[in-house]
Amino acid sequence: MLRRDPTRIELRADDLVDFERSREEYLESKAKLKDQHRKFRSATTGPPPTPAGRDLRSTTASGSGTSSGVNNSREPRPDPFEIAQQERKGKSTAERVLARATFSTYSPTCLAAVHDGKVAYTADKFPHLKRDHSFKKLSEKDISYFKSILASSSITQDEEDLEIFNSDWLRKYRGQSKLVLKPSSTEQVSKILKYCNENRLAVVPQGGNTGLVGKVEKYDKEMQKQMLHATHNAIYFITGGSVPVFDEIVVSMSSMNSIRNFDPVSGALVCDAGCILEVLDKYLEERGYIMPLDLGAKGSCHIGGNVSTNAGGLRLLRYGSLHGTVLGLEVVLPDGTILDNLSTLRKDNTGYDLKQLFIGAEGTLGIVTGVSILSPKRSKAINVALLGLNSFDQIQATFKRSKDELSEILSAFEFWDQEAIKLVKEHLVAGAKDPLQSTYPFYVLVETSGSNKDHDDYKLNNFLEGLMSDDIVQDGVVAQDTTQIHNLWAIREGIPEACSKAGAVYKYDISMPVPVLYKAVEDMKERLVSKEVIGDGKLFTSVIGYGHVGDGNLHLNVAANEFSQEATNLIEPFVFEWAAKHAGSISAEHGLGVSRNNHLHYSKSPTMIQLMIKFKQLIDPNGIMNPYKYLPDV
Ligand SMILES: Cc1cc2nc3c(=O)[nH]c(=O)nc-3n(C[C@H](O)[C@H](O)[C@H](O)COP(=O)(O)OP(=O)(O)OC[C@H]3O[C@@H](n4cnc5c(N)ncnc54)[C@H](O)[C@@H]3O)c2cc1C
Repeated sequence: MLRRDPTRIELRADDLVDFERSREEYLESKAKLKDQHRKFRSATTGPPPTPAGRDLRSTTASGSGTSSGVNNSREPRPDPFEIAQQERKGKSTAERVLARATFSTYSPTCLAAVHDGKVAYTADKFPHLKRDHSFKKLSEKDISYFKSILASSSITQDEEDLEIFNSDWLRKYRGQSKLVLKPSSTEQVSKILKYCNENRLAVVPQGGNTGLVGKVEKYDKEMQKQMLHATHNAIYFITGGSVPVFDEIVVSMSSMNSIRNFDPVSGALVCDAGCILEVLDKYLEERGYIMPLDLGAKGSCHIGGNVSTNAGGLRLLRYGSLHGTVLGLEVVLPDGTILDNLSTLRKDNTGYDLKQLFIGAEGTLGIVTGVSILSPKRSKAINVALLGLNSFDQIQATFKRSKDELSEILSAFEFWDQEAIKLVKEHLVAGAKDPLQSTYPFYVLVETSGSNKDHDDYKLNNFLEGLMSDDIVQDGVVAQDTTQIHNLWAIREGIPEACSKAGAVYKYDISMPVPVLYKAVEDMKERLVSKEVIGDGKLFTSVIGYGHVGDGNLHLNVAANEFSQEATNLIEPFVFEWAAKHAGSISAEHGLGVSRNNHLHYSKSPTMIQLMIKFKQLIDPNGIMNPYKYLPDV
């Protein structure tokens, strides 16, 4: 029999008043926000488009259709860990990192990142981080235990071999782990975590170690020198989530790389967390399917790492985020419990959706050992067009029309500004060439993927003709073959690398409502101009904007002559406050890691942060999982 619980307080009339008040407050703030958006919309309205370059040409017309200089980033790449292992003998750590780095899309940057000098320890760069003394130090007894459950080849203690696991791919973060474990089964992961939890040994789960979840905040002269040397004045934001800070044990998932099951009817793929994204995509390609996500790091990153960072990437517009495409997860909790939620069901409304907690948790709640993911059918027809436009308002109009007119075949909608194309041309990144005859304030890359080429061509042509005749778009080209498709994508994919050559670049990855997307760039420029710190011979050289319009995700890059605290203070916390003020997120894709954790309050309310801390305490009461990261320091 169901009875009312007498310990529960009864609802009173006052409570209803309170509810009503919060509802009113909520509606009021929503109305304010709407009003703000409207204002920003009108503020961004640019001058009417000037008709120019009227015809849409094929890229052949501009001579970019040759295979020379094509960015081969979409070619399959071997497993970098395998390469590193094969080449271990007789090679220095730097050479081995180099071998691994060359398989990343942004290989030139990676190559530049390799240098002879050792990277300073993360703990020295971030003096506010102190080792948690409740964690035990590794002893011989612990090693003996791990030797009893793992093959000796799955245990790494050699100092030189540890280096690759202790540092991130840009060699900016460096931990001091003395032990790497490479379990090959879920049961082994369970035994490892159970032991670590009972013995208070801290753990860092590691996938392909390509994550971007962190950035440097404080500089000293030595570090600055190292960074400049490492990347030729390049990338400011760096990883850190996947490498230890102190002596945490690294649990590398690289040996858990089997495909468990694939259902050719539903497209549900079930695999180990250590499978490399590109390997999975190739596997599916042979079966007429595709992975619902694609990123530059696909040749190295693991699906478990993708899930743990909730990676977005280039296919998000079409297939949505991992919060939607992941059907189930197998996770080992910090106490060794195996949470088997490897469902392949698309519909399941029974209880809390626990898997969602682990998507984007950056290894702080447990180790993902298995992933069930829904793969869509691979499109037979791909079209790519590059457009030149005069204003961000025109980009919005084009985006709106693309949703109306291309609808189900629209698969990517990317944009970049004049500063970005200037850098790509200046540095001729990965053979990228601008096929448009004139330069424009803005560029858009539209991709369609469908099942019927004739149908898609017809739709795309109508869409483009409409845009041209209505003066929404000033110029454009359509790729005629796969090489040209690669060439057009090479421009977009070359922007991060081109930016990295523009000086010391401060990179931000923010999301916000599309109408105010570019206003972040304009406001940043205006701020630096008003402070007279941008221009020839000044602190900053340019502000660059590009990103995924369809996802409301802006990559805001601020190029300076050198990294300095003065420069940082001019950008931060302005950029975070800006994102918060515009209902945005301070981290759209890159996550929180070791340093954005203390900025979480810009995107999440105290109530939400408190609840997150409670979840963490509930699931990981000893705090052994990936400590010092993700949640704010207490
Ligand atoms: C060239 C390049 C391009 C990129 N492009 C994009 C992009 O377009 N969009 C985007 O969103 N991101 C992008 N990224 C970042 C991207 O999020 C990561 O590269 C990728 O998702 C991380 O996977 P990984 O296996 O390398 O994980 P790692 O870097 O090893 O780890 C990342 C985090 O996940 C945790 N983790 C890893 N595996 C597990 C596991 N099995 N269980 C629990 N926790 C785990 C780690 O502890 C760490 O906190 C890019 C990175 C690079 C280098």
